[in-house]
Amino acid sequence: MRRPYKLSTRTEVRPGPLPTPCWHWTGGRSGSAGYGSITRGGRLYAIHEYTFLCRYGYLPSGMVLDHLCDNRLCCNPAHLKVSTAANNCRRGRNAKLSREQADEIKRRRAAGEKLEAIAADYGVSGAMVSFIASGRSWGSQDKPHVRI
Ligand SMILES: [Zn+2]
Repeated sequence: MRRPYKLSTRTEVRPGPLPTPCWHWTGGRSGSAGYGSITRGGRLYAIHEYTFLCRYGYLPSGMVLDHLCDNRLCCNPAHLKVSTAANNCRRGRNAKLSREQADEIKRRRAAGEKLEAIAADYGVSGAMVSFIASGRSWGSQDKPHVRI
């Protein structure tokens, strides 16, 4: 599979755990979660969300992308699986956020910052930010926890 134009200058094709190689992002990263990020059309995207959108044209609302290869810098859309935020959390991807980060997300969201901007800073999906800001995640627990 060919990498989208221009991404080839900022990704390295590397072998991974899957039959097809990982597209390892070597460009900028955003947020403490360490996801690659890219700005397009004035919006900041997590790189894997961007490549998924390029390939498939949409990301179902309320869903997040799970890395099947467990390489968070991989942006090969073939290695991304659409998952619910809750599932993703249970699998431990977005759960890398600390309680303090979750509180900060809630504060920023309450102050009216855009979902996308906050999401890109922390390397999580907009759906995850919404999930956290609504108090359905990281409620009164000390450890990351999801209540459904
Ligand atoms: Zn991969």
